[in-house]
Amino acid sequence: MLTSFQRVFSQLKYLIEVVFGLIFPQKCLSCDNETTTKTKGVCFACKSKINWSKPFEKEINSQILQGVNLSNVKAAYSLFYFSKEGVEQALIHQLKYRGSWRTGLLLGEELGLSISDGESDTQLDCLIPIALFHRKQFDRGYNQAYYIAQGLSSITGAPVLQKLVQKCKQTQSQTKLSREKRRLNVKNTFLASEKFKKLKAIGLVDDVVTTGSTLREICKEIISVNESIEIIIFTIGVVRIE
Ligand SMILES: [Zn+2]
Repeated sequence: MLTSFQRVFSQLKYLIEVVFGLIFPQKCLSCDNETTTKTKGVCFACKSKINWSKPFEKEINSQILQGVNLSNVKAAYSLFYFSKEGVEQALIHQLKYRGSWRTGLLLGEELGLSISDGESDTQLDCLIPIALFHRKQFDRGYNQAYYIAQGLSSITGAPVLQKLVQKCKQTQSQTKLSREKRRLNVKNTFLASEKFKKLKAIGLVDDVVTTGSTLREICKEIISVNESIEIIIFTIGVVRIE
């Protein structure tokens, strides 16, 4: 399936990025106060304000699974409920618009730790970050989902594979669209590699999930290549749908 070279390369790349991250001063990603190495990234005060998803695992699992609505998708995990005014928003903003890929690593690690106590018994072949359209990735300089996947990989051991799903065209932001419009907006925008034929179970990694329209579209594309593949969804934030 994966060559040992790919595994070693993935781990090595991650290590270099972590060491590089240590060179930067340790300030809270949300409020700018100093942090200790123990709290990593977010200070204690900000950490205590985060709406962690742990107590709502079942609710989150069913919200995402219902949104995606495909039987190949077996489970879904999120680190927190996304709050527009909260620390959660500050973290996602750092990750997407302030060039802080390190936030992605930290959040991915936190997500991995929050689910590492034996709940997920599916052995994953790899983790796949949700692809950005190439021009968007060029403008941002990186794909935030890639760093979340690397953080998660450091805990789960599943290697990160990029480029197995390509985004073929730029789409309008989903933020202000209704569920139906979101679905139409992302229709036929992704292309999955034939390599999925060789994979049994994969993890799809995203930053924030709302209706699950984008994930559904990607999963459908992957399933069109391999109809028996099992998919687990990993995301940092979920926007609660009332
Ligand atoms: Zn803080």
